[in-house]
Amino acid sequence: MFKLPVCPHCGTIYRYKDVRKVWGEDIKNTYKTMDHNKAHNHTCYHCQKEFRAQSLPDALVLVLMIVVLNIGTLLFMLSIMTDLQFGWLFVITFLYIALFNVLLPFFIKFKKIDKKKNYYY
Ligand SMILES: [Zn+2]
Repeated sequence: MFKLPVCPHCGTIYRYKDVRKVWGEDIKNTYKTMDHNKAHNHTCYHCQKEFRAQSLPDALVLVLMIVVLNIGTLLFMLSIMTDLQFGWLFVITFLYIALFNVLLPFFIKFKKIDKKKNYYY
């Protein structure tokens, strides 16, 4: 947790920006092809071997953390401010979604591709 992924073959450390790029490719490819297995495969820029970006189950921990914090903050604000405007609830929720987006790369793992059980999750 809170560690950027490394290449499973050569151990090259991916910088924050590069992880976001891999993640972006993942999403783009998923929309482009209906083949889930191919969509998530990436080639290491260092050793040219293929790996797969995997966000589950680690990202679920992040989702839960964000949801709990979000609800906690909302309940706390509702309890101390009696005339709280509804719009603030959306602003807070939006900020937590932004936080999720920023933290997500730290919860992505790069895995070797298992040819025998070549499925994503
Ligand atoms: Zn590599």
